[in-house]
Amino acid sequence: ARLKEGLSKTKKGITDKVDILIKSYQKIDEELFEELEEILITADIGVNTTMEVIDELRDAVKVQKITQPEKIKELLQEKLTTTLNELSSSDLNTESSPSIILVVGVNGVGKTTSIGKIAYKLKGQGKKVLLAAGDTFRAAAIDQLKIWGDRVGVDVIKHQEGSDPAAVIYDAIQAAKARKMDVLICDTAGRLHNKKNLMNELGKVFKVVEREFPQAVKEVLLVLDATTGQNAIQQAKTFKEVANISGLVLTKLDGTAKGGIVIAISKELNIPVKLIGVGEKMEDLQEFNASVFVKALFG
Ligand code: GDP
Repeated sequence: ARLKEGLSKTKKGITDKVDILIKSYQKIDEELFEELEEILITADIGVNTTMEVIDELRDAVKVQKITQPEKIKELLQEKLTTTLNELSSSDLNTESSPSIILVVGVNGVGKTTSIGKIAYKLKGQGKKVLLAAGDTFRAAAIDQLKIWGDRVGVDVIKHQEGSDPAAVIYDAIQAAKARKMDVLICDTAGRLHNKKNLMNELGKVFKVVEREFPQAVKEVLLVLDATTGQNAIQQAKTFKEVANISGLVLTKLDGTAKGGIVIAISKELNIPVKLIGVGEKMEDLQEFNASVFVKALFG
């Protein structure tokens, strides 16, 4: 229900428009395909993916000798599900204890909020979770993380503003070991001045993790704001060059009618979307599942 609610703007942007479109046609013709194409592109599904989907719909209509426009909606739902299913996908890997999750992304995308939500989710699964305030450049980031930690009921390892992020992560790893934590979730600096800068900052943190916690299962999650569309894709490309991203967290899907970005991003970057944010509350984080996602849009 939360997912459906969170995707209601995108549903208006895609499904409701498709409904209106097919009602205005008596038969399937090229014009219908063109209008459908426009709807998908407007929803940020991406030009290439849209072309692919439309071509396949055209073929399906021909091969299956479909004539009623209503059938198009069903076909579209099927096609979007397969497109998403084809993309590499996997759940958040925190199976082994210890596991460590490094969370990266530009300031303002919802990094801190997502860390809080992930902590809440894992704690609900009975895991012992610890947070590390690795974004030491902003006092607000440290405070925010602490607020989330208190809210969820998990501890936060933090240093003062301006201290070395790698030192915080080091301390957090020692604490996680000593307290036999299942999962350590680390915030990291979100300043994206330039690639070299980012590489230096993240590189040091990754090194500490490799050295101190070699046995831990690692996830590197990149948080992206779905409302920023193509900009999010650009950010992802930069991060991909400096870090081995294992999955994406796409936030603020509730704030956009262009939720098709999920498809464009995973397709273009070939990195699985693991989690999606559909609101500001603790519970508003969902594991991403292609058919559930498409069903929520069409249902
Ligand atoms: P950070 O700078 O990347 O750590 O960003 P924050 O976690 O502080 O989030 C920035 C703003 O985005 C806050 O006001 C959050 O409540 C909001 N936010 C984060 N995730 C979501 C989401 O999935 N949906 C909505 N509507 N707001 C979100």
